Amino acid sequence: MLLSINAVTDKRGRLTHYVAISTDISHQKQTEQELKQLAYYDVLTSLPNRSLFKDRFEHEICLAQRNNTRLALFFLDLDHFKSVNDTLGHWAGDCLLQIIATRIQSCLRKTDTVARMGGDEFTIILPGLIGITDATELARNLIGVMTKPVQIKDYTVFVGVSIGIAIFPDDGNDFYTLTKHADTAMYAAKAKGRGLFQYYEAGMNEAAHQRLLLENALRLAIEQEEFQLYYQPKFDSALNRITGAEALIRWRRPGFGIIPPDRFIAIAEETALIIPLGQWILKTACLQAKVWANQLTGFRLAINLSPLQLLADDFIAVLDCILAETGTNPEWIELEVTEGLVMLDIEKATERLQQIRERGIHIAMDDFGTGYSSLSYLQKLPIQTLKIDKSFVQAYIDDPASNEAAFIKTIISLGQVLNMKVVAEGVETESQLALLQSYGCDEIQGYYLSPPLPADEFQRRWIDHGVVE
Ligand code: C2E
Ligand code: CA
Ligand code: CA
Repeated sequence: MLLSINAVTDKRGRLTHYVAISTDISHQKQTEQELKQLAYYDVLTSLPNRSLFKDRFEHEICLAQRNNTRLALFFLDLDHFKSVNDTLGHWAGDCLLQIIATRIQSCLRKTDTVARMGGDEFTIILPGLIGITDATELARNLIGVMTKPVQIKDYTVFVGVSIGIAIFPDDGNDFYTLTKHADTAMYAAKAKGRGLFQYYEAGMNEAAHQRLLLENALRLAIEQEEFQLYYQPKFDSALNRITGAEALIRWRRPGFGIIPPDRFIAIAEETALIIPLGQWILKTACLQAKVWANQLTGFRLAINLSPLQLLADDFIAVLDCILAETGTNPEWIELEVTEGLVMLDIEKATERLQQIRERGIHIAMDDFGTGYSSLSYLQKLPIQTLKIDKSFVQAYIDDPASNEAAFIKTIISLGQVLNMKVVAEGVETESQLALLQSYGCDEIQGYYLSPPLPADEFQRRWIDHGVVE
C-alpha cells in the first residue's frame, strides 16, 4: 500500500486534521517482482541467470579475498543434448533441462550457487574452498548423477556432462577471466572424451587459440580448395595385381607444407566442416575412380567416411547426386566406415549402410578391432570388407608363435567365417606380409609396398606400369 498523509490546519495555522490517501499497489509490486524474476532468473529452470550469477560471483570473490579462501567456478556443458532436441523435439529438450537443473541442485550445499548461462550450459560457484578436494568430489558427484538415465514421457534418454573448473585466485581474479578459463577447461574435458571433468591449466588457452586459428584456416581452405587426395594401392595377397586404392586426404596449406589428416579431421568434425569437405572428397574420388576403373578392370577406390557425414540427413541424396554427376558406377567405389559410427547411432547407421549397399557400393569396416563394439552387429551390417587395424599388424615383429600373431589370425578367421574380404593395412615389413599371406588375408596395403601417392604419380607408378617384382 502506498500511503500519503497531509496535515490540515485552520485559519490560524493550528493543526485540525490529517488527510490520508492510500493506494493499493499490490499489482505494481507483483509486476516488479516479475520483472526482477525475468531480469535475474532463467524462465525455464528458475535458476539464476547470467547477470545474477555475475553479481553473486563478484560478491563471493570479495568474501574470498577477505577470508583468504579459494573458490571454484564450474562450467558444465551437457553431452548429446543436441541430439535429444533434434530427435525428440524442443519440448523434450526443455523437460530435460528442468530435470538436469534439479539434479545439479541436489548435489550442492546451501552456500553454492548454480546458474543457467543459456542453452545447455550451467555454471556453479563453490565458495570457501581450502584445497581443491571439495571441488573434485563435487565434479565426481555431478558426473555420477548426470549419467543416470532421464525419463521424459515414454522415452529414456542418456545425457552426460563435461565439466571445466577454474579456481580463484590461482587461475584468475575476475569474473571474465575465470569464466573464460573454466570454459576452456570444459572444452579440454570434451576433447578427452565425454563425461569427464578437467581443471584449467596454463597453456590451455594457447592450445585453444591455436585451434581457433586452425579452424578459421580450415574454413578458408575449403573455400579455396587447398586439399588434395593421395592414393595408396592395395594388392591381392600374392601381389599379382592391384585390386584398388584408398583415397587419403592431404591439406596443402600455404606456408605450412602438407598437413596430414590426423591434424585436421577431428576439428573438421567438431565444426561440421567435414560436411562440405566430405562432399569434395567424395566427388574428387569418384572422378578418379572412373579414370582408373576404365584402365584396370576390377579396380575399386576406397573412400573414408566420417560418421557425421554418413549420419547427415541428406547424405544419400548427396551421394546419388555425386554418382550421377560424375558418371560413377557404384561398383568402382567402396566406402570405409568405422566402429565409432555404429556406436553413435546403430539404427540410423544400419539403415544408411543398407541404402548404400542397395546402390551396389561396397562397404568396409575400417580400423577393425580398435572400437568397443560387440561382434553381434558385425553380422547384421551389410559389410563386405574388414580392415584389420594397422596397430595389430605393426605389433607383429617376427614370431609366428606370439600373441600378436594369434590376434591377427583370429581377426582373419572371423572375417572368413562372416564371408568378408579381409584387408590388412599398415604392412611395413616382409615378415608381416609373409604372416598375412600364410593366414589367407585377402588384400595388403602398407608402406612396404607403397606409400600414398598423388594421382599423377600413382598413375605412372601403378597404373601405367602395373605390378613389378
Ligand atoms: P585410416 O583410414 O586408417 O588410413 C590409413 C592411414 O595409415 C593413412 O594415414 C595412411 O597413410 C597410413 N599408412 C598407410 N600405410 C602405412 C604403413 O605401412 N605404416 C604406417 N604407420 N601408416 C600407414 P593418413 O593418410 O595420415 O590418414 C590418417 C587417418 O585420417 C585415416 O586413417 C582416416 O581415419 C583419416 N582420413 C584420411 N583421409 C580421409 C578422408 O578423406 N576422409 C575422412 N573422413 N577421413 C580421412
Ligand atoms: Ca581408411
Ligand atoms: Ca584404417
